[in-house]
Order: sequence, then C-alpha cells, then structure tokens
Amino acid sequence: MHAPMNQFRVIDGELVIGGERLSALAARVGQTPFYAYDRSLLRARVAQLREVLPKGVKLHYAMKANPMPAVVGLMAGLVDGIDVASAGELKIALDAGADPSEVSFAGPGKRNAELRQAVASRVLVNVESFREVSELEVISSDLGLPARVAVRVNPDFELKGSGMKMGGGPKQFGVDAEQVPALLADIGRAGLAFEGFHLFAGSQNLRAESICDAQLKSYELAVRLAQDAPLPVKFLNLGGGFGIPYFPGEQRLDLAPIGENLSQLAHRAQNELPDASFVIELGRYLVGEAGVYIARVVDRKVSRGQVFLVIDGGLHHHLSASGNFGQVIRKNYPVMIGNKIGSMPMENASVVGPLCTPLDLLADLMRLPVARVGDLAVVFQSGAYGASASPQGFLGHPACVEVLV
Ligand SMILES: *Cc1c(COP(=O)(O)O)cnc(C)c1O
Repeated sequence: MHAPMNQFRVIDGELVIGGERLSALAARVGQTPFYAYDRSLLRARVAQLREVLPKGVKLHYAMKANPMPAVVGLMAGLVDGIDVASAGELKIALDAGADPSEVSFAGPGKRNAELRQAVASRVLVNVESFREVSELEVISSDLGLPARVAVRVNPDFELKGSGMKMGGGPKQFGVDAEQVPALLADIGRAGLAFEGFHLFAGSQNLRAESICDAQLKSYELAVRLAQDAPLPVKFLNLGGGFGIPYFPGEQRLDLAPIGENLSQLAHRAQNELPDASFVIELGRYLVGEAGVYIARVVDRKVSRGQVFLVIDGGLHHHLSASGNFGQVIRKNYPVMIGNKIGSMPMENASVVGPLCTPLDLLADLMRLPVARVGDLAVVFQSGAYGASASPQGFLGHPACVEVLV
C-alpha cells in the first residue's frame, strides 16, 4: 500500500488541485501532459516545519528539486534562503528576489566564471576544493570583494537509510574532513570571508532517527573543525535529507524527534559555536508532495490478458516515476485515475507512456478504476525531480507545461 495521498481533496471522484477540479484545471492549462504545483500545500509544508524546528534555525530551499521560476519565487518569500547548484540556478534565485546574503552555492565542479558570478552576487560559496579557494582569491582581488565562503565537508560518516548517499567515504562532494584544517589555513591566507560549514550526508531519508544521528555527528564534526577556522562560524548548514513516501510500505517522516534533536544541538551551540545559526536545506520535502503530473489516456490496449493504459506523457517528462532516476529496483509511484477516484469497477492495469522503449512505464500492474480514453492519469509525489530531471528531448514529443496553482 502507498501512503494515503490525502494532501489533496476529492470532490465527486475528482481530484482538486489549487482549488480547481482536475478536469477544469486541464481545460485551463489547455493541454496534457502537465505538472501542477499547489501553492496552498507549499505554504502549509513550510508552516508545518516552522512549527517543529526551533526558532532561529534557518530553513533553506534546495532549488534543484524544482527550479520552476514561479515556484522559486513563491518559496523565496516563504523560506529563509535558497541553495543553488549552478550559475543558472543562481540567476533564477536572484530573479525571484532571494536575498543574496541568504543564498548559498554548492556543487562539485564550479567553473571559474560561476565562482566570479557568485562573488559578484555576494552569495555564500560552499567551497568544495583547494582549487576553488585559490580561484576565489584571484576573483576577490579582481572584484575588490572578499568572497564569502563556507567549507563543504565530506564527513567521516554516512547517512544511514538514505536513498542517495552524498557524504562519507570517497566522494566528489566537499573536502574530506581530514583535509579541512589545511583548507581553512588556505582560506585564512587568501583573506576570504569565512562564514561556516556545510555538511550534507544524503537524501530521501524516512527515518527520523538516522537524520538525528547525522545531524548530531555533523554538529560535532563542525565543532571540532571550527578550532582551525580563521573566523567564527556564522552558518552551520547541517544538510537535510528529509524524505517523502514514494513507494508501497513507506510512511511519512516523523518531524517531532528532529525538532527536538535540533533544539538540543542549538542549546549546545550557545556555548560551543556562539555566533552560529543552523541551516537546514530541503528540496523534495518542501515541494515534492505539492506536485502532481497529469497525462491523458490516449489508448487502452489488452495484450495477452494484460491491460495497458497508454498516456500522452511518460519518462521524457517524469524520469523518476519511471524508476530510472536512481532507483535500484523499479517500484510504482502512487498513480491514480484523477477523475475516477473511488470509482468501480477496478482492474489491474499498467500505465505506459508513448515512447518506443519498455522503460516508459509509469505504473506496473496497479489496481486502478477501469479507465477509458480521455481519462486523466495522475502521478502523485511529483513536485520534485520531475520536469527538470527528465530527458525532454528524447523521442521528440512535445515539451511539458508546468503550472503553479
Ligand atoms: C540535492 C541536494 C539537496 C536536496 O535534496 P532533497 O533530497 O531534494 O532534499 C540539498 N542539499 C544538497 C547539497 C544537495 O545536493
């Protein structure tokens, strides 16, 4: 069983998104397929986090999860900062009105031109190599602006139970904890404005306990590393990794223990890192559950007894729902017939896209109401790593549309 997708209302068997029934919304958009992101759910999610996180913890949006400019614009007004991972994202964040003093820029291969744009924009650069420090020294003297830097640390531990590990062991991200003292000395010699540390252990974790454990270890590592820092720590970015339920058997993350853990750490920090604000950076947890992907059934076929609903959207718009974006074993996202919720009879059907590849499978033998040509298939949990994480040029089908409603 999938976790209930009860973040959306249903009226007369029809899903309601952004206050609009699905069929009316599809008419308004004027085409299928499309992504729709619900503003009220985005606001509610931020409010829910604010309630649980201790005051003073800064909430950042990692915009690679959903870089649609309208979404970033909305989020910029709700959260405390935006985390970008390219100069392209930096432009969208600044266009959206994000405050540069609360924008940070991470990524393992920042080009010199991107570093220059970051310094000129006065955003915080999470440095990930010795080369970045020497390049930033040159840029700072060129522009007459000391680069604001934090050190992204590749920790000496991993995030247990995380879908994607991004720290611990040999990694292309950050600088190994044991090399950080030497890097901090370089930063001091280069006269850069050191502001803190960034630790990101991994992504898509549904176990509060392992998130708390990673936060504690990250905190303690930062306290140790701070002894060699040229200036006091102003920002301590403890990462995020909060997951959302995608697959059968998964349940929503329990935030309460995470809030408690952060309160304890914030209390310790009053003595150990007195100038530091904690930052939590979240992508999918903020936007993932607020978005759906909608495509129309264009054909219904029965092949040797198995029903195939062929829809006008597929992996070219939604690679992750097809199972080809970091899944080891393919599992179904929650998929429904959005204009027939609760309708009878039901049948087992596979929902496939129009691409000429067997990878274009959005639901494998799911229990669904019997659907006809013209019905609307909905893929839930699609607000993150959807449109921008998909190979839209593959096979020459129309680009998808995104709406914020
Ligand atoms: C991708 C990424 C995130 C966001 O991850 P989610 O799983 O979407 O929350 C946050 N921080 C960094 C450094 C990232 O690379």
